[in-house]
Amino acid sequence: MAKAVGIDLGTTNSVVAVLKDAHPVVIVNAAGMRTTPSVVAFKENGHLIGQNAKRQSTLNPERTLYSLKRFIGRRYREAAEEIELVSCNVVSGPNEAVRFEIDDKLYAPEELSALLLRKLVDDASSYLGETVHDVVISVPAHFNDSQRRSTMDAAQIAGLNVLRIINEPTAAALAYGFSRKAHETILVFDLGGGSLDVSVLDVSGDLFEVRATVGDTHLGGGNFDKEVTDWLAAEFEKRHGINLRQDKQALQRLTEAAENAKVELSTVLETQISLPFISTAAAAPKHLEVILKRAQFNELTAHLLERCRASLEAALAEAKITADDVDQVLLVGSSTRIPAVQELVRKIIGKREINRCVNPDEAVALGAAIQAGILTGELKELLLLDITPFSLEMETEGGYVSTIIERNTAIPTRCARLFSATGDTQSALNLYLLQGEPKLTKDNRRVGQFKLEGIAPTHPDLPQVIEITFEIDANGIFNVTAQDKKII
Ligand code: ADP
Ligand code: MG
Repeated sequence: MAKAVGIDLGTTNSVVAVLKDAHPVVIVNAAGMRTTPSVVAFKENGHLIGQNAKRQSTLNPERTLYSLKRFIGRRYREAAEEIELVSCNVVSGPNEAVRFEIDDKLYAPEELSALLLRKLVDDASSYLGETVHDVVISVPAHFNDSQRRSTMDAAQIAGLNVLRIINEPTAAALAYGFSRKAHETILVFDLGGGSLDVSVLDVSGDLFEVRATVGDTHLGGGNFDKEVTDWLAAEFEKRHGINLRQDKQALQRLTEAAENAKVELSTVLETQISLPFISTAAAAPKHLEVILKRAQFNELTAHLLERCRASLEAALAEAKITADDVDQVLLVGSSTRIPAVQELVRKIIGKREINRCVNPDEAVALGAAIQAGILTGELKELLLLDITPFSLEMETEGGYVSTIIERNTAIPTRCARLFSATGDTQSALNLYLLQGEPKLTKDNRRVGQFKLEGIAPTHPDLPQVIEITFEIDANGIFNVTAQDKKII
């Protein structure tokens, strides 16, 4: 069987890994790098992907697409926060789908992610010397049904066969626990460029069982950058009375400088931000020169840290454990290099030291490669049991909502329910499928609507009964089937 690879299709950076002699290794890309920036750019004569696309982003902000993963599977109105973070033009397409407008043409996030996937797999094929077709792709544990389906669609557009969608924190734990064969409870805190996942797993030798997963798909390094960008723009406006936010190119330079400053502040206590010729006033060039201290950065981003805290505490509560029960803490995602983030995790988990054996940039791809090995039969003894992070609910006409599958249920799972269409006048039944939490109705997302029609008439005194089977497969994707049940 040809090699199957594991792909960490990141918001910021992507990584591909493969099993070599039953051990996962990262595949270097055509440029010799272990990570590929998740960036696509359009030029007059075609497109650029990865490092080359990233390199030209300041000069070509409106035709450079990044953070695609923040948009995949989201409706336009669900992406308001994300639109603020990107430099290209985002519009509402058919059925409220997100579309990127480039040179009067509209592109779907799936199409652009497909370009990225194609490049990652082509590089892997050259490295391995064989054509790769089968892939395992990781997604944030908190990706909903639509985001998972769209990721599958992107792979399909790229001509790939998806063996499995794996949750990122689960993949990271798999990479960590793979050769340890220990019995321990692991907490994975994964803060990347665009999302946060906190998962709690029990590992028992070759058995990996996820107990709980909590997260926020609107929170990542990009949000930290935005706070610094806003601060820089405000400082400049205070000094020169010019709003740099209105100039796309200046804004792109500010965003880049903000990210660089954030990264520097992970190792130093203050950093100088210097942007010469960022604007002009009365024909005179204006420069931006400021110093940002780590303490000030921490203040600007304190509210984001609070969101991290809330998810971390909720994960422990959902797993029904206390910090003392955690044996190992894994930090995954490059945003966990922010000192305040590390401090927060250390404070909540208490005395326990943070495990440094995993490379935060590579663990997810390595885990995805292990999962590929399990599915192709190369790794026989490992067993991975994941869960669904959302409840699945059914809303019937009249607004009545009932939970069908509770969150944190092991997947794959299925559940059958009987619904009745009453009286001889009702021959159709309208049902809505919701994904979310019953207590948080505003966050509940309608993921499907079913109109069951032509319900067979039975005896007028008897209700017509339909059995509906709800399934969540191992990819975390839903399937619903209905069957007319005759009552005899
Ligand atoms: P993703 O999974 O979203 O692709 P990564 O795990 O590669 O993300 O993380 C990317 C994010 O990490 C970016 O927002 C980047 O600015 C941030 N980052 C990278 N290095 C550092 C660092 N040393 N300190 C703080 N943040 C960092
Ligand atoms: Mg990541």
